[in-house]
Amino acid sequence: MLKTLKQATLGSLKTSGVFSLVQNSRWRQRRLLILAYHGISQEDEHLWDYTQFMSPEFFRARMQLLKTSGCTVLPLGEALNRLYANDLPDKCAAITFDDGTADFLGQAFPILKDFDFPVTLYLTTFYSHYNRPVFDVICSYLLWKGRDLSVNLKTITGDDETVELSSEPSRRSTLQRLQQRARESGLSAEEKDAMVATIAKQVGVDYDELLSKKILRLLKPEEVTRLAAQGVDVQLHTHRHRTPRDRELFLREIDDNRRSIQAMTGACPTHFCYPSGNYDAAFLPWLKEAGIVSATTCDLGLATANSNPLLLPRMLDISSLSSVEFAGWLSGVSAALPQRRPAYDMAG
Ligand SMILES: [Zn+2]
Repeated sequence: MLKTLKQATLGSLKTSGVFSLVQNSRWRQRRLLILAYHGISQEDEHLWDYTQFMSPEFFRARMQLLKTSGCTVLPLGEALNRLYANDLPDKCAAITFDDGTADFLGQAFPILKDFDFPVTLYLTTFYSHYNRPVFDVICSYLLWKGRDLSVNLKTITGDDETVELSSEPSRRSTLQRLQQRARESGLSAEEKDAMVATIAKQVGVDYDELLSKKILRLLKPEEVTRLAAQGVDVQLHTHRHRTPRDRELFLREIDDNRRSIQAMTGACPTHFCYPSGNYDAAFLPWLKEAGIVSATTCDLGLATANSNPLLLPRMLDISSLSSVEFAGWLSGVSAALPQRRPAYDMAG
């Protein structure tokens, strides 16, 4: 209901010329739109999770809209320097991708290159080195793949119990049980991967084939090296995609992540993105201590010169956002309308 109303409002604001009034205003010129993306589907990933994935056609249409709307897309570092120097060009935007799933290389990057748009990739590095699909994410995907089935958990968790996977709540509770079992048993990455292979078998998915297609796998270190050589700005997202509430463990996440990225790219990353958008006031001094110059959240909004550089808002662009809503963000009009924060289960 709110969405329909908002679409109608945005539509009439667009036709009445309010979009162009706002987008050419001093108000918008002092603001930076940081766009956030995750994955661009190789197959059906966007049908499984539309908040994390979009189809290549959809992403290309977004980039086209960015171009035709006359936005200036700057590299993140330059955009932030100019934001705080009150020197932004008109309708400025920066593009960021979180995590570094392998589809970035084959799907997202060629499209970005076509438009000559700079991009920042916030890379989490543990699974880049280990290079098997991320446990929680691949479990969720496989349960969705088995959505026409009932499976017995005996070979997976040891529980002789059959669960049906047709409904979203049932898949979610099954996923929680798998995560809990992995946690309680203290499974290693290899043991968790063996569990994933068993789940794949149960839901009739050829795991080797899925691996060869690199679905839900992260970029390999050598792929990151190649992307960095082609101008992709690779920045921090923690080593294990987590933000411990303990200073030493938190700093270790940054340090491991930074050393990994530096070895891949030859450059020292200083920009950070909170995994899953999770932030806490306690992190700010630790980030400063680690020499971090900016940190982005999943909080919706445009950044201004008054924004805390370690709590920057972004606009997480998802498949369910219509093109008029997206254009509303480019122009700045949407930032003035009431927002309902979407549910980003695993976002960030
Ligand atoms: Zn992430």
